[in-house]
Amino acid sequence: MQPSAALARISPSPTLAVSARVGALKRQGVDVIGLGAGEPDFDTPDHIKEAGIRAIRDGRTKYTDVDGTPELKAAVVAKFARDNRLSYGLDQVTVNVGGKHTLFNAMVATVDPGDEVVIPAPYWVSYPDVVQFAGGTPVIAPAGPEQDYKLSPAALEAAITPRTRWLILNSPSNPTGAAYTRDELRALGAVLARHPQVWVFADDMYEHIIYDGFAFASIAEACPDLYERTLTVNGCSKAYAMTGWRIGFGGGPAWLIKAMAKLQSQSTSNPCSIAQAAAVAALTGPQDFLAERARAFQARRDLVVSMLNQAKGITCPRPDGAFYVYPSIAPLIGTTTPKGQLIDSDEAFVGYLLDEARVAAVHGAAFGLSPAMRISYATSEDVLRAAGERIQTACAALR
Ligand code: PLP
Repeated sequence: MQPSAALARISPSPTLAVSARVGALKRQGVDVIGLGAGEPDFDTPDHIKEAGIRAIRDGRTKYTDVDGTPELKAAVVAKFARDNRLSYGLDQVTVNVGGKHTLFNAMVATVDPGDEVVIPAPYWVSYPDVVQFAGGTPVIAPAGPEQDYKLSPAALEAAITPRTRWLILNSPSNPTGAAYTRDELRALGAVLARHPQVWVFADDMYEHIIYDGFAFASIAEACPDLYERTLTVNGCSKAYAMTGWRIGFGGGPAWLIKAMAKLQSQSTSNPCSIAQAAAVAALTGPQDFLAERARAFQARRDLVVSMLNQAKGITCPRPDGAFYVYPSIAPLIGTTTPKGQLIDSDEAFVGYLLDEARVAAVHGAAFGLSPAMRISYATSEDVLRAAGERIQTACAALR
């Protein structure tokens, strides 16, 4: 027996690998600061936990409808109407085992060998791998510092061919935190209007983690012409601090939702019934803590951006949302560590940070744009201050 050809097309998630390495070092008693993981340090709010506990007590512990209970689908419909002014029917929403599963279902259900999927870089690590697993070809479009880490209409136009099936658009972005304004989405929509074969996978997972009064917009709402060919994707993981519960969801045309349910019926079946009950409470309960938490994240962003910009050789932009920064480390490539090791890549640099400064970050190459690194600041200001000092000391020691 050998691993399949489909498996050979993908790699293990580099961000989960960093988390595993940090966990192993901590178990050995090493004082390491992990800034690699993409999850809020906040706890799941109590009213959401209570809904999960109630579901267990009430015996809601059996199979549910494959792609979501009627209660959760109704809550998802209401969420899209409330937050995004998008109107979906119950047959136009799907509930999956996390947003990653929504991506997986959408790609596997629609992509054939030779189909192309446009992915702006830097990108969330799972996009190219899931496309490749599905048999498709990722077409990486540049979205680097010269365009504020956003896909430009010209770069989108250049990436599209007759075989393009999807554009994956993530705002605010993992790994850069860049977010698209309504006008920027409309400019991309104008390009897509000329290419009716291209659908949009709109990954709004960080919608509620947004700063400085930035007005979040989702592309199907900004460009009503694209409504019929957009899958609007969101979930409970980041906004409601529910990464472990595994609930993601999407809204889109009924035939696509049905196709994804068919795949799900022969793979995971329904998402956990208890997590679905908790997700109903998350989506229909009080929403005011979202803004409070975003304010806490904003203070952390300001601290991290300021400390990184004081480190020799690091240039850190100030993102609009999510809980990541993606600083460039270009001047540090070609330097040498005190032990004589050459820093010849961003992977070598984050290796040096982990070994010598005991700070874990993820190298930019994993996200398709080097030389850079991703730092997650979803942790306390004290921890971030300590990490910033360690990084400053480590950079100052490079020659
Ligand atoms: N989309 C983006 C941009 C993400 O960063 C993540 C998680 O890191 C997800 C989707 C999926 O989240 P989950 O599968 O944990 O719900």
